[in-house]
Amino acid sequence: MGLKFFNTLTRSIQEFLPLDPAAKRVGMYCCGPTVHDFAHIGNFRTFVFADLVRRYLEFKGYAVAHVMNITDVEDKIIKRVREARIPLREYTGKYEAEFIRDFDALRCLRPHQMPRATEHIAEIVSLIEKLIARGMAYKAADGSVYFSIEKYRACGCAYGQLKKLNPQDMQTGERVAHDEYDKESAVDFALWKARAPEDGEVFWPSPWGEGRPGWHIECSAMSMKILGPSFDLHLGGEDLIFPHHEDEIAQSEGAGLQPRGERFVKYWLHGAHLMVEGKKMSKSLGNFFTLRELLARGFSGREIRHLLLTAHYRELFNFTVEGLQSARTALSRLDECLNKLREAAGNTTAAPDATLLEKISASLDDDLNVSAAWGVMFEWVREMNRLMSENRLSALQAAAALAAWQRIDSVFGVGDRSEAAAPLQTTGLLEQREAARKAKDFKRADAIRDELKAKGWLIEDTPKGPRLKKL
Ligand code: AMP
Ligand code: ZN
Repeated sequence: MGLKFFNTLTRSIQEFLPLDPAAKRVGMYCCGPTVHDFAHIGNFRTFVFADLVRRYLEFKGYAVAHVMNITDVEDKIIKRVREARIPLREYTGKYEAEFIRDFDALRCLRPHQMPRATEHIAEIVSLIEKLIARGMAYKAADGSVYFSIEKYRACGCAYGQLKKLNPQDMQTGERVAHDEYDKESAVDFALWKARAPEDGEVFWPSPWGEGRPGWHIECSAMSMKILGPSFDLHLGGEDLIFPHHEDEIAQSEGAGLQPRGERFVKYWLHGAHLMVEGKKMSKSLGNFFTLRELLARGFSGREIRHLLLTAHYRELFNFTVEGLQSARTALSRLDECLNKLREAAGNTTAAPDATLLEKISASLDDDLNVSAAWGVMFEWVREMNRLMSENRLSALQAAAALAAWQRIDSVFGVGDRSEAAAPLQTTGLLEQREAARKAKDFKRADAIRDELKAKGWLIEDTPKGPRLKKL
């Protein structure tokens, strides 16, 4: 069997068969950040997990259309905007830019589309109109529009697909206006919220009067606009299963846009939380780390990425600074081995070592068992080191090993230190130093060496000439 995922919808491990298997195209939507503050690395555990899913699908030869929305209007944002007394876009723009910076630093591939909710008000309004026309939504006395669970169920649709809900708890007719609610019962939830004085300038016109969208409808409207009414994969953190994703299914399937017999989403994948001392890392508990804090402590994006990718995505994972130290040690063992392999390979090139690729694929095919895949990787590092120390690895074997690593790293995305890019300006300095040495201008050569050192780069002399090494 090929690739398998645990599908929250069926609560089972299933073979991944995309809606359009012949085309090898996959549509994938991951709920993106709510840009009300800096994201913490718990949030990034989920985004790195989504990046892993995308990279592995690409490794398997699929063309992935990866969409991640930016939630730039919802309850928490409005509260912050009111406190900051600045326009919505100015406020969210700052945190969106900071988010992207962190996202890049963690070496996540940029999604192909990053739609903002505020730029999809027309699509949101039109989806709500469809729901009203089908009798699934109604306008309340204050001008807000709610989704009717009772009407939805009366049409034979199931509410409680991702999470089993207790039939006794079905509170028909009860309503909830907040975006976030944890009642595990079915209550009518807001699709459109009538303008309230505390919303300030955050409102849009609509057929039901001025107001703003509810959070859940934003994702239904943006995902279906870009990927179509029925697509392959929907991802998010496990806290989004209910009510956010349950409500997304209700809104999207309630509008009846899917071809007969097809679902809104075929596979729902949810990442477990990042924990700190047994508790979920979260802003409200105050037990969180932002990426910038960890970078300021001297850890690198690749070390943090590696740590986030050591545990299986469905396992709760405890974050510790010691964990980051171990990630550093593990990566330097890998880097050292890769450097030695490069020396052993010289200019030889070869096809990737198929055995190593097969072992890694077997682990990742198994519901992305990334910890097993890293196990294979470090076993291989030990084996390579042993063969090299015994002088038993040919240049061709070393080249095959390096080529395999390149393929594997297209999935892990940690890179390696030698290419932990010396910026162009820095490599330029190295060339200038060489020129100065050739011209016997040793004073200048030493001055350039010191300048490079100040920038964090050491010049290492190797048989193939000088090379830059990160301090
Ligand atoms: P938010 O910006 O709050 O909308 O959250 C962005 C993503 O981070 C969502 O997919 C959440 O499920 C996820 N998330 C929030 N807290 C954690 C955590 N402690 N560990 C892993 N993912 C989280
Ligand atoms: Zn969402």
